[in-house]
Amino acid sequence: MNTPLTTEQQIQAVLSALAEVQACDNCGARFRFGDLDCPHCGAELDDYFRGWAGRLLEKLGIYPGGPGV
Ligand SMILES: [Zn+2]
Repeated sequence: MNTPLTTEQQIQAVLSALAEVQACDNCGARFRFGDLDCPHCGAELDDYFRGWAGRLLEKLGIYPGGPGV
């Protein structure tokens, strides 16, 4: 069992995740966090953000194993 993260470590993990460059899986265009679809090719970003959120929760120790496991 891992030691739970401190609140400060969780804050740092959230900030660094938000600072990551987001890029479309389909065409590679960068997009802003919160866009619903790619501004370049129009691909839906829902799955991308769900994956992103799952990885973040995993980092925070809230969602061990990640989404879909
Ligand atoms: Zn795209």
